[in-house]
Parts: sequence; structure tokens; C-alpha cells
Amino acid sequence: MRPLATFGACLLLAASSTAQDNPRVDSLVKGAKEAFKSKDWARARTYLRLANRLDPKRKDVAKWIGLSCHRLGVQMLEQKRVYRARDMFHEGTSWYPANPHLWLALGRAARTLDRAKEAEHAFRKSIDLDPTSAHTRCRLGTMLFEQRRYKEAAQVLESAQKLDPKNKLIQQLLERARKDGEIEQGFAERTSRHFLVRFHGERRGLGKFVPEILRHLERTWVALVERLQAQPKQRIVVLLYTKTEFRKLGTTWDWVRAYYDGKVRVPLDSWSAQKNRVQKTLRHELSHAFLYGINPMLTPWLHEGFAQWFEGERVDHARDAVRGKMMFHPKWRNKSFIGMEDAQVAARFYAQSLVLFTHLHEQQGLSGVRLLLEEIGRSKGGSTAHREDRALREVFGNDLDGLLREVAAKHRLGTPRR
Ligand SMILES: [Zn+2]
Repeated sequence: MRPLATFGACLLLAASSTAQDNPRVDSLVKGAKEAFKSKDWARARTYLRLANRLDPKRKDVAKWIGLSCHRLGVQMLEQKRVYRARDMFHEGTSWYPANPHLWLALGRAARTLDRAKEAEHAFRKSIDLDPTSAHTRCRLGTMLFEQRRYKEAAQVLESAQKLDPKNKLIQQLLERARKDGEIEQGFAERTSRHFLVRFHGERRGLGKFVPEILRHLERTWVALVERLQAQPKQRIVVLLYTKTEFRKLGTTWDWVRAYYDGKVRVPLDSWSAQKNRVQKTLRHELSHAFLYGINPMLTPWLHEGFAQWFEGERVDHARDAVRGKMMFHPKWRNKSFIGMEDAQVAARFYAQSLVLFTHLHEQQGLSGVRLLLEEIGRSKGGSTAHREDRALREVFGNDLDGLLREVAAKHRLGTPRR
């Protein structure tokens, strides 16, 4: 999308540089062309706005201002200035309303800022202008799914799938929208300050425990804010299923007892009988929701290490479980744990994550962990692995491979498999 927009702008400029009769405007457009070439979008926009003031009828100049707004907005997003980026895309759409990329960018920025109505309008506008984009439909479908508008989400995702039948992400989202829609029919919901809990409305007994469950969730929220000194911007959705409903989701292996995939999904047949276990599970899953809210690009070992530490899983048990066994190799750091079919292999990955996380915590406490999260968020360029290693070196003086070796030597565990 980016090179195309720039290319489009150059074509426009080439067309505009001929047969114009205002020399001042022409020279400003020429200046803008130079600025565009050197990627100085702000200067290009200034020249073009001046040109527009002198000759408001030149449509090519208006379009071009729109494109420079797009480039500037993208740059602001890279600098994490989302509010400014949203304003820039919004301005861009007023100059160049027929450009689907600008509407898409506006939709994405608005969505990040939790302006759901604006985002939906922008996505739909982009789809009207470019009905062939499966990507934009996927974005809209995902947003509708998150708003639990399952039927509409499924419709949009079906149309995306027709355009891009091999796209696995669209396929998965569509299945989830259909299945969640089916299972959550008749679910009741209750909210508290930071949570929305959904559960089967007809289930006897659970309804009266929901206020207590919400209180537990809010207490856990406070505990997580204390530990991480950060919090997700959005309310966390927690789904309480019966065991049958949980299995019906059919997205994980049998050993998985709960998970987070944008929503916390927990099977719960009886709060009074399973309270301790479920409270622990909720602490674990909320850790994921928090970490994801802080930075959606964190690796599974860091997630699982923190989540187990926070839920109170015992590290001595974890060390016993991996003693003498091979540690996982850093090349597997992006591997999803809940995607592992073999429960024993998964258990080892979990244990190693906890052992490693505890090692970091023992060295520098929670402030070190927070610093690591900040460094990963700050780190730019390269793969997830690259950024994580850079941050680990910065804060703990060693990359993942080195840290695994430190842990292995300290507790007489196996070294990473080559
Ligand atoms: Zn987990």
C-alpha cells in the first residue's frame, strides 16, 4: 500500500507539472515534488496547501495534499503518535475523499483510539471505494467480531473469504465468529469498571456469583497494575462457559484448561466448588490480557513465564520438571504453547518459561521486568526475536540463548538444543 500511494502521488505530480498557468503555483508544486522525493512529507504538505490557497480549483493539488497527509500519518503511527496520525488521516480524507487507503488508515487509527463508530464508518467507506480489498473487509470483520456483532462479522468475513479464499486468518476469524455467535446465544452479561463478563443466562446458580467474580477480577486488575505499572486501554471480556460449551469451541487441544485470544475463555461449572482453581486460572489469563494490552508483540515464553509467576505456580516444581532435560531453543520462541498437541512437551515449555522468568525476576526484580517490556516496546526494526534479544541484552546483559545457558548452569538443567 505504501509504495503504491507514493507512486500514485508521483504520477499525479507529473501530470500536474504541465499546462498550468500560475507560475507561483507551479513552483510550489515543483517544491512539493522535491520534498516528496526526499520523503519530507511535512514540507510537501506545506507547499501544496499554499498552492491550494492560490488556486483552490486545482484538483490534482488537493489530491496530492491528501497523499502527503497519508504519508505523514503513517510516519506519526511509527512514532506512536496515534492521535496526531488520526487527525492527519482525517484531514487527508477531506482533501482526497476518493482514496480508499486514506479511509483504511483512518479506520485503523480510529480503532486503536477506541473510536468504534468512526472506525466502522471509515472501513465501510474504504470498502465502497475499493470493493476488492479482502484486507479491509478483514479489518472491519475483526472489529465487528470484537464488538460481538457476530452475524454482521460473519457476513463481512464471508465476503472477504470470497475475495481471498486461501487466507487462513480470514478462515479462522470466520469460524470463530460463527462459533462464538452460536455458543453465546442467550448469554447474559454483567459489567464492572474494567470487565465485561458473559455467561449462560439460563444456568442456575452462576448468576448470583457473578458480582463476586467481578470483584475478584477487579482485585486482580489492581494487583496487575501494581506489578506492571501499566494497563490495557480496553475493558477485558471474560467468557464463562460450561465444560461442554468450552469443548464446543474446538479451537484447542484437550489439555488446555482456559485461554486468552482477545477474550478470556474459562470453563466454569460451579464457582463455589471450583473457586480456588478458577481464581488461579483467571489470574493467569488476565496476565495475558494485560501483557497483550501493553504490547501485542510479546513472545509466548515471556507471556507464560509472567502469567505462571503471577498466578503463583511453584518454580521449584518447574525446575524439577525440566532438570536434566533440554531447554527449548530460542528459535522456538514464537511457538504458541496452546498450539502444541503433546501435553508433556507443552508442560516442559511452560516449566522452562517459569524457570527463565524467575531467573530474570531474581536478578532485577519487577522493575527489571518492566524495563524489559518498555525496551521491547521502544525497540524498532527487525524481527520480534531481534527486538527481544536487543532488549534482553540492554536490561539483563544477555540475549535469550545466553540467558537460557545461565539458567541451565545455575540449576543444572539441560542446555538449549542445537
Ligand atoms: Zn497462558
